Amino acid sequence: MLSCKDTSELVSRSMDEELSWRERMAVRLHLLVCGACRHFTAQMAFLRRAARRYPGGVDRRDQESR
Ligand SMILES: [Zn+2]
Repeated sequence: MLSCKDTSELVSRSMDEELSWRERMAVRLHLLVCGACRHFTAQMAFLRRAARRYPGGVDRRDQESR
């Protein structure tokens, strides 16, 4: 069984790279029993989506001033 620390590390890695089948299963199993990590995972996914939708607020401001 993964610890919460291991799970959060795997979850953040999974945002950048594909996890192995074994790692994904371990994370899913932990998320089934751990509400804190479920919350963390949802938060990560939300932040990733938000970051992708608004790439670099500073760049956007540059474009508007042109
Ligand atoms: Zn946990």
